[in-house]
Amino acid sequence: MEPSRQDDQGMTTLHDDQGPARRAFWTVFVYLLAGTAWILFSDRVAEAWFPDPQTLSMVQTWKGFLFVLITGAVLFMVLWRQLAKDRVLLRLQVDQRRALIRRERQLTVLMDNLPGMAYRCRLDQYWTMLFVSQGCTLLTGYEPDELTHNRATSYASLIGDADNERLIREVKEALDQGQPFALEYALTRKDGRILWVWERGRGVEDDDGVVVLEGIVLDISDRKALENELEKLATQDSLTGLCNRRELSRILDEELARATRYQRSLAVLWIDVDHFKDINDTHGHAAGDSVLRSVSQLLTGSIRTVDAIGRFGGEEFVIVLPEMDAESARDTADRLRRRIADTPQPLGDGQTVPLTVSVGISAYPEHGQAADQLCAAADKAMYLAKERGRNCVVMAHLHEQVHHGSWRS
Ligand code: GH3
Ligand code: MG
Ligand code: MG
Repeated sequence: MEPSRQDDQGMTTLHDDQGPARRAFWTVFVYLLAGTAWILFSDRVAEAWFPDPQTLSMVQTWKGFLFVLITGAVLFMVLWRQLAKDRVLLRLQVDQRRALIRRERQLTVLMDNLPGMAYRCRLDQYWTMLFVSQGCTLLTGYEPDELTHNRATSYASLIGDADNERLIREVKEALDQGQPFALEYALTRKDGRILWVWERGRGVEDDDGVVVLEGIVLDISDRKALENELEKLATQDSLTGLCNRRELSRILDEELARATRYQRSLAVLWIDVDHFKDINDTHGHAAGDSVLRSVSQLLTGSIRTVDAIGRFGGEEFVIVLPEMDAESARDTADRLRRRIADTPQPLGDGQTVPLTVSVGISAYPEHGQAADQLCAAADKAMYLAKERGRNCVVMAHLHEQVHHGSWRS
């Protein structure tokens, strides 16, 4: 018998060229040969040595006893050896089974206490789950039984179609490179709630040589919410919800680059509330805030969806109007000015206050090629509007040298 050896996956395989039947046959064959030889030769020797029939008969009897004794001893040896081997094997089996149960228990405890869901699934359009840990219930709202083998629903149905396509593509790319994959996507729970999850896994071959995926899915909704909150804080004005100065500057740069590339026009409106300090002084800061919120809503509701509006400072708003020339921008600015003048603004205590704004306009390319130039020109035009008595719109002068400090600061 060839010794057992390890195959590719480290599993021990038994290579036995002489099967048990063959071995048994040879043992019995040797036994029969020895028995026949014993009977034939021992009889002849006994007859030659003991011619007396009475002695011969006694010798025959003892010979029989001796045969039984020897075969009994051989049988004992064979059985003892075999049973001892069986016992060792049995003990090995029991030890292995115990170790297996122990490992299974450890694995189950580990999986059930993971902060998420461990899984094994097929790489198909349903992400057919072959196994999911208990964490599945907390994560998805479905029991493991409902999700495995798509019994109640498929895992793919918890993910949107567009995301599914992206995820399959990303997983295949990682598998092609022999790398583990990491994915981030939204998941719709059984109760309809949407979670953000992070998944990490790898491809493994199952017993049939088919590649399946094994990995873990974690709920990262809190992290995602925090990220969104931080992003909001970085781009939004906290009082009005409009873009902050930095974000609007970014949008202006982007729009200006587009306008330059496609040779389109673009306009900037610089809006400042008239005598706003009086509102604060008369009605209080909270009332001023209420007015600012209301003005920002009014302005937002009065512009196109392609336009961008931001709060640049205390009571200053800037609007970027892509693909709009100077004359159309003047019409828009005047429409906004009239709308604000015609709408009394709420102070937050049920009272309202009349309000006007002064607007400066600059347009690309005539009032500047760069964002800095356009903003400074619009800002200067707004100050001219103040000088002209407020509640009016002023267009920037052509090729005007502007000497304001950087408008971004
Ligand atoms: P003008 O017509 O010349 O623009 O007069 P104004 O009073 O609007 O101009 P000024 O710049 O003197 O005053 C702006 C005021 O806006 C001063 C400041 O107290 C107020 N302000 C700035 N930020 C806020 C804010 O976030 N909330 C409130 N309530 N007031 C603010
Ligand atoms: Mg003002
Ligand atoms: Mg101001």
